[in-house]
Amino acid sequence: MAEVLVYVDHVDGAVRKPTLELLTLARRIGEPVAVHLGPGADAAATVLGEHGATRVLAADAPEFADYLVVPKVDALQAAAAAVSPVAVLVPSSAEGKEIAARLALRLGSGIITDATDLEAGDEGPVATQSAFAAAFTTRSRVSHGVPVITVKPNSAPVEAAPATGTVEQLQVTFGELATGTKIVSRTPRESTGRPELTEAAIVVSGGRGVNGAENFSIIEALADSLGAAVGASRAAVDAGWYPHTNQVGQTGKSVSPQLYIANGISGAIQHRAGMQTSKTIVAVNKDAEAPIFDLVDYGVVGDLFQVVPQLTEEIKTRKG
Ligand SMILES: Cc1cc2nc3c(=O)[nH]c(=O)nc-3n(C[C@H](O)[C@H](O)[C@H](O)COP(=O)(O)OP(=O)(O)OC[C@H]3O[C@@H](n4cnc5c(N)ncnc54)[C@H](O)[C@@H]3O)c2cc1C
Repeated sequence: MAEVLVYVDHVDGAVRKPTLELLTLARRIGEPVAVHLGPGADAAATVLGEHGATRVLAADAPEFADYLVVPKVDALQAAAAAVSPVAVLVPSSAEGKEIAARLALRLGSGIITDATDLEAGDEGPVATQSAFAAAFTTRSRVSHGVPVITVKPNSAPVEAAPATGTVEQLQVTFGELATGTKIVSRTPRESTGRPELTEAAIVVSGGRGVNGAENFSIIEALADSLGAAVGASRAAVDAGWYPHTNQVGQTGKSVSPQLYIANGISGAIQHRAGMQTSKTIVAVNKDAEAPIFDLVDYGVVGDLFQVVPQLTEEIKTRKG
């Protein structure tokens, strides 16, 4: 059976959820072969094998940690040469998309970014994307070279599919450019205890209607009752009510959770661009004419200061 390379996003061998989702999609088009770079391959291989990876190509070298993406591109290129895959799948993070773009250039291949679904096709995998601020859904396939495809988090379920997950060493020769950009310092982000915005299964967002930084505690309380990440519209962020890193939209982060709850957000096209591929969308807005109601699955016309705390209490009660 044809093999599909899956780039593993991990922290010291702890595999992140978007990679497990990629394994689900990879199994639709072939046999997943994971590429694990950096420390922790043995620990990761157990999890990767449980989710369908037949082989884990592993390489560890200081270059992966000390320099930006080029060493990883060198390694993926070596893996592609060793395996001759039918596709290379990479999680759609900022780093993942840079790695994928550079790899596609090196392989002389077409690339599809930010896919939200993937299926087998007669002439290669067919990817679904959301285009032009999510106004269109497109289906496309790469017509030249080995398809390199980045996939948005939450595009597929994580499914157990036991496979061998045999670890094999990948030989990597770093090119001249690999050490071109050195990482000189690292500052860990302050942990909020909440999931990463772009990977979260549930996102609770607040907009101008939240009316002040101090009121974002209402949004955070709802998020915490659901184990969700907190997002914000640009209006809320520009007003200084919430950090820029939490902005959802065209000039912020793109999220695609199972559930997106927009509170006091009007639904401007630039905001929709970052959340319209969410599976279920709920909005709370006191204006029944707000454009956000055009795309919701469930809408509540009401004052968020009344609705959101009640919702939080109800969720807490039901969770016991
Ligand atoms: C180039 C460009 C890029 C942009 N990028 C982004 C981006 O990445 N992300 C983004 O979000 N925006 C972006 N914007 C801005 C975007 O156009 C909107 O201005 C912004 O999204 C509006 O944010 P908002 O919905 O919070 O505010 P508003 O549009 O002011 O809407 C506030 C909503 O809150 C409701 N409301 C008020 N009080 C309450 C209450 N008590 N209870 C319930 N509802 C209430 C109102 O009815 C209203 O619908 C961009 C704009 C440009 C030009």
